[in-house]
Amino acid sequence: MATKKFLLEEKDIPTAWYNVAADMKNKPLPPLNPGTKEPLSAEAFYPLFAKELVHQEMNQTDAWIEIPDEVRNLYRIWRPTPLVRAFGLEKALDTPAHIYFKNESVSPVGSHKLNSALAQAYYCKQQGITNITTETGAGQWGAAMAYAAKAFGLELAVYMVKISYEQKPYRRSIMQTFGAQVIASPSMSTKAGRKIITDNPTYMGSLGTAISEAIELAMQTENCRYVLGSVLNHVCLHQTVIGLEAEKQMEMAGEYPDIVIGCFGGGSNFSGISFPFLRHKLNGGREIRIIAAEPSCCPKLTRGVFQYDFGDEAGYTPYLPMFTLGHTFAPPHIHAGGLRYHGAGSIVSQLKKDNLIEAVDIEQLDAFKAAVLFAQVEGIIPAPESSHAIASAIAEAEQAKREGKQKTILFNLSGHGLIDMASYDAYFAGDLTNYQMTDEALNKSIAPLEKVI
Ligand SMILES: *Cc1c(COP(=O)(O)O)cnc(C)c1O
Repeated sequence: MATKKFLLEEKDIPTAWYNVAADMKNKPLPPLNPGTKEPLSAEAFYPLFAKELVHQEMNQTDAWIEIPDEVRNLYRIWRPTPLVRAFGLEKALDTPAHIYFKNESVSPVGSHKLNSALAQAYYCKQQGITNITTETGAGQWGAAMAYAAKAFGLELAVYMVKISYEQKPYRRSIMQTFGAQVIASPSMSTKAGRKIITDNPTYMGSLGTAISEAIELAMQTENCRYVLGSVLNHVCLHQTVIGLEAEKQMEMAGEYPDIVIGCFGGGSNFSGISFPFLRHKLNGGREIRIIAAEPSCCPKLTRGVFQYDFGDEAGYTPYLPMFTLGHTFAPPHIHAGGLRYHGAGSIVSQLKKDNLIEAVDIEQLDAFKAAVLFAQVEGIIPAPESSHAIASAIAEAEQAKREGKQKTILFNLSGHGLIDMASYDAYFAGDLTNYQMTDEALNKSIAPLEKVI
């Protein structure tokens, strides 16, 4: 059998992140003041985010941004991550396609999220910030941020979506082990949380609500900033270490992907695996298909509108340009909690608008079916989120078989599912269903959006 695993050495960990905005012809639209509709200056964000992160967020000129040594040193705990040829999956599908996955599940917290968490904690520390707040859906980001905060000596408070707080108690324990304070959201500790609980006492929370609470606490706490695990440009930037390593590893394998796939919540792991490859398409005219795999119950890229919207439920954030389902959209409680977000990041949204990337929607049951097959033939139990990318890769491999064509498919395994076994239990018990978003529900949450664009 040919080589299965492509491993780099520590010296091959990238020394710079790739900033795709520098290479985009149509730049992402700027964030706006929701009142005046004027673009916001960097200074407007300083009370909320560490300055260096704001500068990265707005940088549309530098294609490469150096990774600080302190961050790169911590990356060495688990990076470079392996690129794996999925021979088992290829055989099970009897496909002529070559399937590769980048295994980000080997990080200490089990997902790609640590790539950005460490960078964000570093820049906060650099600036003399002592406290940070954030939100977490399934708990992956909170776990990563909790470790990163501890690594740089920061105090962290995490608002965790209530449904996950109850369904995924072990992610809470992980955050607590790393020393973070964890609060179920909606909570009574903020104005935003109290309002939502008053309006809807049984509400089990959403990322949008948890973001509102985390922002509110950050604004009220001395020497405190807010950090976010997805959606924003600087988060996508930090994740490009995934694709930059994968690029070298595909070279070792002697192949170049025809198709690159990432599951899609707010866009960070998708951006991470795909932007370094997208740069060959933007700069060299290279043919490559790039696919975002989102859940069919939260289909912002496939069925949402391109419009300015708030990033959170209460409307504390600026207006951000995005493919959105409306910031009041409350997605059903699917088990891929990390994909339950109403909008897409502004870079990805612009790329989608310009047809430089594609999107597909995946049903919950198809994702679990793909996950179980993958686990049985590759030996890794994937996170329910990552399973959407696997399902999409399988669909493309089956298509290659129908066409009788060899295609090279690369997907990102964003995390493992070992702390998500309750979701697998529910799947095996037959308790899971598919959720298609009705046009009626879609129109209801999109209609109130102001037509800024
Ligand atoms: C958070 C998470 C996602 C979704 O977030 P993105 O920013 O869209 O990548 C996907 N997979 C895993 C394992 C996650 O933890």
